[in-house]
Amino acid sequence: MTQNFIVIGNPIDHSKSPEIHHVFAAQAGLDIHYQRQYCPNDAASFTAVVEAFFHGGGVGANVTVPFKQVAYDCCLARGGLSEHAKVAGAVNTLLLNKDLLKEGSSVKEALYGDNTDGQGLVKHIISLGWPLNGAQVAIIGAGGAARGVILPLIQAGIAQLTLANRTLSKAEMLITELSAASLDIHHHAINSCTTDKLTGQFDLIINATSIGLSDNTLPLADEVNCHYAYDMMYGRDLPFLQHFAGRGAQTSDGYGMLIGQAALSFERWTGHTIDVNQATLALE
Ligand code: NDP
Repeated sequence: MTQNFIVIGNPIDHSKSPEIHHVFAAQAGLDIHYQRQYCPNDAASFTAVVEAFFHGGGVGANVTVPFKQVAYDCCLARGGLSEHAKVAGAVNTLLLNKDLLKEGSSVKEALYGDNTDGQGLVKHIISLGWPLNGAQVAIIGAGGAARGVILPLIQAGIAQLTLANRTLSKAEMLITELSAASLDIHHHAINSCTTDKLTGQFDLIINATSIGLSDNTLPLADEVNCHYAYDMMYGRDLPFLQHFAGRGAQTSDGYGMLIGQAALSFERWTGHTIDVNQATLALE
């Protein structure tokens, strides 16, 4: 029987998720239908789309811009949230809690939200062979993407984390909020600074800002270096990666993170583990 999936967003035409998940399904030998779902940009419309989809027998939904926070609120008020979704304050993967359904809960009450973005990043970095255990790491950016990756990086065993951001108060506030939300983060000292004051030698520097969407460049100090540089953006030339490649670092854009988070969503929904390297080759 065909299993149905959607990705909900606004805009949504650009989403690569249907292509990616159909490659996963071919690898897993499953018959699926995965489509893009446009939704008007308000919480009531989002909730209506989600409920209609799951009432109609849908198995799983991905959530993208601008609905990740709305999806979080929706699950908080209903079925539940994974630890990663709670700490991230955002949901990118929706499914139904089968135990609650068996106990007689409605679809609305059984809605469960997860967040696979940060774990997708970690999965990709590990697949690149870049060491995380004991690593000295800097993240530039303190928005939603940075928030989602800090817990998975700490759980992957990084030794030290510095959070740099254009607006220092936002980095400080993020550290305070995450420390309150997760004991793993609470027990892990995180430094903060403005982006131009980030200096020193790091194993890994991650660009989690949205600067790649513009023609601007980050004000990086001459005294900052790394072995590995990762930009969460993908699909265009990225000055951040060019900068560190010129200083001898290995680099990667965020396309593998996109595939990694999708693979984890697929695994949550179907129970099938995806060979991400094989899927990436199939998508080329
Ligand atoms: P947010 O809007 O939540 O945060 C934006 C961040 O970028 C803030 O820290 C902001 O700093 C900083 N920033 C924006 N413009 C500039 C600038 N001109 N100079 C310096 N800093 C700047 O965005 P998200 O966190 O949601 O997304 C960040 C990036 O991550 C996006 O490019 C997105 O595409 C990518 N992403 C990739 C994913 C993947 O699967 N590959 C998944 C999720 C996100 P300030 O606080 O000072 O405003």
